[in-house]
Amino acid sequence: MSNKIWLNGNLVNKSEAVISVFDKGVLYGDGCFEGIRVYSGRIFKLKSHIDRLFQSTKFSYIDPPFNKKQIEEAIRITVQSNDLLDGYVRPVITRGQGNLGLSPKGCNDPTVFIIADKISLYPEEFYVSGMPITVSSRPRISANALDPQIKSCNYLNNILAKQEALVKGFSEAIMLNADGFVAECTGDNIFLVKDGLLCTPSLDSGILNGITRKFIIDELSQELELRVHECKVKLEDLYNSQEVFLTGTAAEIIGVSRIDDHIIGSGFPGSLTDNFIKLFKDKVMLNAPEN
Ligand code: PMP
Repeated sequence: MSNKIWLNGNLVNKSEAVISVFDKGVLYGDGCFEGIRVYSGRIFKLKSHIDRLFQSTKFSYIDPPFNKKQIEEAIRITVQSNDLLDGYVRPVITRGQGNLGLSPKGCNDPTVFIIADKISLYPEEFYVSGMPITVSSRPRISANALDPQIKSCNYLNNILAKQEALVKGFSEAIMLNADGFVAECTGDNIFLVKDGLLCTPSLDSGILNGITRKFIIDELSQELELRVHECKVKLEDLYNSQEVFLTGTAAEIIGVSRIDDHIIGSGFPGSLTDNFIKLFKDKVMLNAPEN
C-alpha cells in the first residue's frame, strides 16, 4: 500500500494527498501521466518515461512547474519513502485549477503528483498459459483527432473498450484504427510471429510509442538475433500467426492464447514469446538496469 504521495513538491500522507474539484484533471481528464516499473529498487527506463511525460505535457500545452531533473528526483524520493523494491510509479501532471469551462486560460499552476504502489495487472496463470483477448467494436481514437503520443489522463476510449471486453469475459481488447488495421490493445502494444518473422503495428498505425515495445525492438530482439518488422497489421494476420504477445510497462510481456474464437498457434505461449519473457526476466527483473 502506498502511504507517501509526492504532491506539488512535498511528500504527504495518502489521506492528505488531495486536489481541488476544480482541477482540470478531475473535470476533463486534462493532464498527462506515466506508468513506470521498479524492479529490485531500480527504476526501469526512467529517463525514457520522463522524456515521454514531458513530450505529453508539451503537446498538451501544459508547462510543468518542475523540470525533468526535479521530477526524476521526486520519483526516486517517492519510491524510497515507500520502501518500494518492486512496484509501479505513477507521475501525473494536470493542467491544474481553473473554472468550469474547457478553456486552459488562467490555469497557471499545473498539479503534479506521484504515487508509488504495488501492481499486478493480469492473473499469473495468463503469463504461464497465455491470455485470451477480444477485438473491440470501438476503434481507437484516430491520430489526427488526438496524437497517440500524448499519454493523456483521458483514457475513456480505452476504458470503454476494456469494459466491453470485461463484459464478454476477456481481460484485454485489440483496438483497430479508423482504417481497420490493428493499432494496439487498451493498455498494451501487440506483436505477432509468423513464419519466424516478428511484426508489430508501425507507429503510423496510430499507437502509443510504448517503451516496452521499443525495448523489444531495439534491445531484446537484437539479443535473439531477430529483426522486427513495423508495418500495417490486419486482424487476419493476427488470426493466422503462430504467436501473439502483448507488451506494456504494467503487463510486461504476456502471450496471447486466443483472439475471440481464433486459437493462436498451439493455444499456449509460443517458443519466441517464451524466449522474450525469459530474457525480460533475466535482463530487467533480475538484473534491473535503470536506462
Ligand atoms: N498502449 C497504450 C494505449 C498504453 O496505455 C500503454 C501503457 N499502458 C502501452 C501501449 C504500453 O506502453 P509502455 O510499454 O510504454 O508502458
